[in-house]
Amino acid sequence: MNVESFNLDHRAVRAPYIRVADRKVLPHGDVLVKYDVRFCQPNREHLEMPVMHSLEHTIAENLRNHADYVVDFSPMGCQTGFYLIVVGDHDDAAIRDLVAATLADVLAATEVPAANEVQCGWGASHSLAGAQEAARRMLDKRAEWSEVMA
Ligand SMILES: [Zn+2]
Repeated sequence: MNVESFNLDHRAVRAPYIRVADRKVLPHGDVLVKYDVRFCQPNREHLEMPVMHSLEHTIAENLRNHADYVVDFSPMGCQTGFYLIVVGDHDDAAIRDLVAATLADVLAATEVPAANEVQCGWGASHSLAGAQEAARRMLDKRAEWSEVMA
């Protein structure tokens, strides 16, 4: 199928993990790399939408404090993880460090950035406490992030 993750057997992975889902060389030679940042075991658990939403806002904002090569951080519709898109090739370890540093920011946050009706499409649908609990669970398993397959 056209979408990389549609060719991934979601029964065979072991979350949490971070893996490269796609790599594109653009016409002038620049590279985009897309990571599958999986918080939850597919078809076994998921994050509630306000939790996903607050993780999205808080991570998307704070990633850019650590790296100037972030293009996008977006939720998966299945509510089990996120896609991170960056410019250029980076060591897997550097990407894991980037995500870990940003999850530490989530734990330290006192509010969700831009969780209001001016800056967001559903400013009421947020849970900082839930986002922090999910970030804590993800960080607790950091040693397992590089192991994708069960
Ligand atoms: Zn929003």
